[in-house]
Amino acid sequence: MQDGSYFKNHPPRCMSRLCRSLPDQFLPDLKECAGYVAFGLLCPCGSSRLMLLGKRDGHAPDLCGPLAVRCDDCGKENPLLDPRKDGYDGELGQFSAEYDTLPATEYECPDCGGKTHELGILLEVQGEPGDLPEEHRSRPEDFFNSASVYGICAHCDARGWLFSQECA
Ligand SMILES: [Zn+2]
Ligand SMILES: [Zn+2]
Repeated sequence: MQDGSYFKNHPPRCMSRLCRSLPDQFLPDLKECAGYVAFGLLCPCGSSRLMLLGKRDGHAPDLCGPLAVRCDDCGKENPLLDPRKDGYDGELGQFSAEYDTLPATEYECPDCGGKTHELGILLEVQGEPGDLPEEHRSRPEDFFNSASVYGICAHCDARGWLFSQECA
């Protein structure tokens, strides 16, 4: 069993440029617990004012598919995760979903329509690296079982989950 500090110090490679330790304002909804690791997200420029970009399936406010974040301060866009290549099934080439026909969109706060959020992410991690094929055991952080993104609206302070995906 990897202890919790291993995963705290090793964010998955797909999002490693964006992860920082979890700021207190995400508590209590987004918090570390057994089998999970949580990070705050930060643009490489240092700003926490982010828009979450993804695909929309139907009318639900939450997103699906490959995700990216765009910084409200520097305007740069950085990929966050793509379930087709990242996480347990993606890494092993076992994830199949068709996102190409879905419209790309920015997450909008259901309360005020604002797009800028402070974002955090919760990852369900591999408790037993021995469950992984041997060639991947040196990087269990990339084989997360699920990923969920939590946001706090910069305009109205509304809080909630913006994205949730099973990856295994
Ligand atoms: Zn930035
Ligand atoms: Zn809002």
